[in-house]
Amino acid sequence: MKTMKYVICVPDGCADEPHPDLGGRTPLEVASMPVLRALAARGTVGRAAVIPEGMPPGSDVGNLSLLGYDPAVHHTGRAPIEAASLGIRIRPDQVAFRCNLSTVAADTDHPEGIMPEGIMPEGIMPEGIMPEGIMKDFAGGHPSTEDAAKVIKALDEQLGSGVGAEVSFHPGVQYRHIMVAPESWAQANCVPPHDLTDSPAVWPTGPAGQKLSELMTASREVLEQFPELAANQIWLWGQGHQPQLPSFEQTYGVHAGMVTAVDLVRGLGVLTGMDVVSVEGATGWYDTNYEGKRDAAISALQSGTDLFVIHVEATDEAGHAGNVAEKIAALENWDARVLAGLIPALDAMGDWRLLMSPDHATPLLLKTHTSTTVPYLLVDSKVDGAGGEYTESGTAESEVVPGYELMSLLLQRT
Ligand SMILES: [Zn+2]
Repeated sequence: MKTMKYVICVPDGCADEPHPDLGGRTPLEVASMPVLRALAARGTVGRAAVIPEGMPPGSDVGNLSLLGYDPAVHHTGRAPIEAASLGIRIRPDQVAFRCNLSTVAADTDHPEGIMPEGIMPEGIMPEGIMPEGIMKDFAGGHPSTEDAAKVIKALDEQLGSGVGAEVSFHPGVQYRHIMVAPESWAQANCVPPHDLTDSPAVWPTGPAGQKLSELMTASREVLEQFPELAANQIWLWGQGHQPQLPSFEQTYGVHAGMVTAVDLVRGLGVLTGMDVVSVEGATGWYDTNYEGKRDAAISALQSGTDLFVIHVEATDEAGHAGNVAEKIAALENWDARVLAGLIPALDAMGDWRLLMSPDHATPLLLKTHTSTTVPYLLVDSKVDGAGGEYTESGTAESEVVPGYELMSLLLQRT
């Protein structure tokens, strides 16, 4: 007996706004996507609130929605999700922090440090660790994973478990690493470093702000031992407990797999018990291996997986770069290199349903994520929908569906 197959396509950050270079149209309106247009014409299009009101528009929140979990209930922070993708276990009495290798330059206008108004209550930081410097590069010059691992090892030996400290440092990918600390350290307001680019570096505040700032300051001496790297200190943020996510299979009754190059998304797959597949050449960049991801989906579905998530980061990266041509190219790659081959393969397997939706918008003009609603598409191989256009304008009048309800719509478990 043939069972229903489900595919979720996530072009990260693909939703956008009208752009002057495109004659006031969006990348989704301009890109040549014949396969997607045909799917939309026979499916159902609408608008989804993937980022619940009041929550940060991150890929962690948006993808949690798309996997069918209400972020307002289940989201505990970004770092513990990434820690899960690295196989790091966080005890209930611990929290994980994202530990960026970053470049903070001296602020020649404010050699004494500055106290940004409205953000830092006066007197909260003791002398010597006043907020200082300019966030030159939240990614510390993009060190290689191998070079960064040496730095993280040195940090752990000199400031972490190597000297019996309460914290430990764990290597991740490129500039993105993890620090594990006692749970009381979570009591801090930490600004994401990518929100500080070319601006004064606002150091952690709150009850644990001082400890974190001291550690960030101490890390400068360790980074001095690696003069070949552009990064000169760590930046701690995104802290949280390990979320207790109910298993996807127990929640929705289908066995799921996923492919992604992004550790944050991979971590959600790990935490919900999905089979997270690795694909060679999946880079998280424009040059990613689209066919490899498509084929990973097809072979997983052919060998018993019920539902498969294909996540591609390229659209989001193009949005952050403000690169109109690359954003359009990434959408056209979805059409020609994923959907064109995927649909016939699904047809050959039997009945199927498909959901396409980004996890948030990354408008080219803003170069950052927004909390706006995004277009979604649902297609059923046997039952035609009302049909429509899979674009921002084509779904503007639709009723808004909470992002975490899309899974039930896809599985028709409402
Ligand atoms: Zn992004």
